[in-house]
Amino acid sequence: MDHCVFCDIADGKLKAKILYKDEKIMAFYDLEAVAPIHFLVMSRAHIVSVKAINKENSSTVSGIFEVIAALAKKLELVDGFRVVANSGKLAGQTVNHLHFHVLGGRVFEWPPG
Ligand code: 5GP
Ligand code: ZN
Repeated sequence: MDHCVFCDIADGKLKAKILYKDEKIMAFYDLEAVAPIHFLVMSRAHIVSVKAINKENSSTVSGIFEVIAALAKKLELVDGFRVVANSGKLAGQTVNHLHFHVLGGRVFEWPPG
C-alpha cells in the first residue's frame, strides 16, 4: 500500500485538530476548510473508499454516522449540514482512506458543482 496520510493521523504520527477518537473512529478538522465548520470522520483502520465497504467493516461505517450525528449536535449545526464522501478519481477523492466530510455554517447548493 502507498503511504497514507490518514493512517499517520490515526496512528498519532501526524498531528491533527482532533474532535473525537475511539479505538475504531476518529474525527478531526480539515486542514483546508471549505466551510466555516469542516471536519472529517474516518475509520482508523485503512479502508480505501465507499467502494470497499462490506459486511466486515460496515459496523464501523454506521459508527461513523453516530459520531457525525453527535458532533453535529455538539457543534450546534442546528440549521443543517452536509455530509460528503468523495469516492474515486472522478469525484475528486485525494486521500484514498475512507472519510466523510462534514460541512456546516453556510448554505450549500444543490446540485453540487
Ligand atoms: P478528499 O479530497 O479525499 O475528499 O478529502 C481529503 C481532505 O483531506 C481534503 O479536504 C484535505 O484538505 C484534507 N487533508 C489532506 N491532508 C490533510 C492533513 O494532513 N491533515 C488534515 N487535517 N486534513 C488533510
Ligand atoms: Zn490509510
